[in-house]
Amino acid sequence: MSLGIFQVPDPVNEPVRAYPPGSAERASLKAELERQAGLQIEVPLVIGGERVTTGNTENMVMPHDHGHVLGKWHQAGDAEVDRAIRAATDAKPAWAAMPFEDRAAIFLRAARLLETRHRDLINASTMLGQSKTAHQAEIDAAVELIDFLRFNVHYLQEIMREQPISAPGDWNRVEYRPLDGFVFAISPFNFTAIAGNLPAAPAMCGNTVVWKPSAASMLSNHYLMEIFEESGLPPGVINFVPGPPAAVAERVIAHPDLAGVHFTGSTQVFQNIWATVGKNIARYDRYPRVVGETGGKDFIFAHESADIEPLVVGTIRAAFEYQGQKCSAASRMYVPDTIWKEFRERLVAQMETIAMGDVRDFRNLMSAVIHKASFDKLSKAIEEAKSKVGGDVAEVIGGDCDDSKGWFVSPTVIVANDPKYRTMCEELFGPVLTIHVYDAKKYEETLDLCNDTSVYALTGGVFASDRAAGRLAVDKLRYAAGNFYVNDKPTGSIVGQQPFGGSRASGTNDKAGSMWNIIRWLSPRTIKESFDPPRDYRYPSMAEE
Ligand code: NAD
Repeated sequence: MSLGIFQVPDPVNEPVRAYPPGSAERASLKAELERQAGLQIEVPLVIGGERVTTGNTENMVMPHDHGHVLGKWHQAGDAEVDRAIRAATDAKPAWAAMPFEDRAAIFLRAARLLETRHRDLINASTMLGQSKTAHQAEIDAAVELIDFLRFNVHYLQEIMREQPISAPGDWNRVEYRPLDGFVFAISPFNFTAIAGNLPAAPAMCGNTVVWKPSAASMLSNHYLMEIFEESGLPPGVINFVPGPPAAVAERVIAHPDLAGVHFTGSTQVFQNIWATVGKNIARYDRYPRVVGETGGKDFIFAHESADIEPLVVGTIRAAFEYQGQKCSAASRMYVPDTIWKEFRERLVAQMETIAMGDVRDFRNLMSAVIHKASFDKLSKAIEEAKSKVGGDVAEVIGGDCDDSKGWFVSPTVIVANDPKYRTMCEELFGPVLTIHVYDAKKYEETLDLCNDTSVYALTGGVFASDRAAGRLAVDKLRYAAGNFYVNDKPTGSIVGQQPFGGSRASGTNDKAGSMWNIIRWLSPRTIKESFDPPRDYRYPSMAEE
């Protein structure tokens, strides 16, 4: 029962900690890294609040030191998947009936714990398990996740305030019900914040969730589940069900009570999920909401008027930070011939200064890519590009691959003569940037080329000091990116500031961290109440003259 009309605290973006040498925050994070590196933990499933082990385990390793085992995790089989769906279904009535302020407080508490007591825990586990540097872990696992939780609670409140008008004598109301059924959340490895947001956003709306985390981010995701529980999340509201992806997904999606899928990951996997939902459509009592943020082939487009220094810095950060494994990472680029020589010189000079290695050495900008499959894919693409030099490819800069200790791929630039060379079109998801040098006189045609080159439309940006040139890019590339930047790099979106998501093959563009996403987990019901309903079916116009 609610005895007040409450207002959740106004959200503000969580400040980013800098971890400078000599600081207490750096010492504390380093101590936590050491502690976690010395452990080997066992990650159970969490179903209806119970820890479940199956004995069918997989190891968790550090990608930058793949001989170092961080622990093992248990995989769900069919019986555990069915049990998780039952737990979600059983928890639903009480959770949906819980007043908004109680549900909101649980997620605000999780945000506070991430901000304070568990900040090092979540950052260190993201660093060790996903090979993020201290800065990359901080802006993801702590800051972005805190923002997702605080802003989404606020957006949900804003949505609930959205009410229809009423004619005299009536009162129209819209109530924002959770969806009818359970939600299936499937998260990617590359952002701990996304792993938290995919189950949390539907859950705060009153839904219950079966969450399948990624095998490659199990350590941080396990701690995240524990933080949700510590925050007071009732058993069964979010069920943590790691397991073989295709088998788990097939079984969950075939369930008649599926109400929605909240997915982030690659395009091919999302297309399979959508097809499976379609195949099962007659089994459901409703049309499941399908929300997916997927792959990208994100671009930086330079005009000849571009200010070169910020262009170089933006390129380095967007292409190589977190080893190019952000969905928004710049992986193709267009540079006019008039500035190419100067840009190339400065880019290569800066690339040569990039330090790469273990995330526990804070001087490194880069570390290893996530797993062997990724390493193999990247090294193959780099070898292929080297073999095309003199043909489709003009040169390959960098391109060293070494998996002896960790899965390391050095920052790499492929200069493609062919603007539709394979790596100008396909997502590789690693520190490989393909650049096409274009004729500066053909700026407008090259904008069209950029628009048509890839199936994706996630992020992109233009660097231009010439206002008209910048405007032309904004107009011509309207559908080429869901997040577009002018004189800035295409990575680093902030919750509440740049709602995130793309269209075309990049997803349903439901904008994570905005009310547009939250609205997808609600099913509004309109209630009209009449205070004095009519007492005669006849209309005045029907009376005798
Ligand atoms: P992925 O597609 O390999 O995996 C994502 C999730 O899907 C994981 O939990 C995985 O286990 C699961 N999965 C894999 N195969 C499946 C199957 N057959 N059926 C059902 N589920 C399956 O992606 P990833 O490697 O974890 O993440 C990288 C990808 O995610 C990139 O393509 C990147 O662009 C994309 N991404 C997009 C955004 C965005 O906002 N658009 C954000 C982050 C990542």
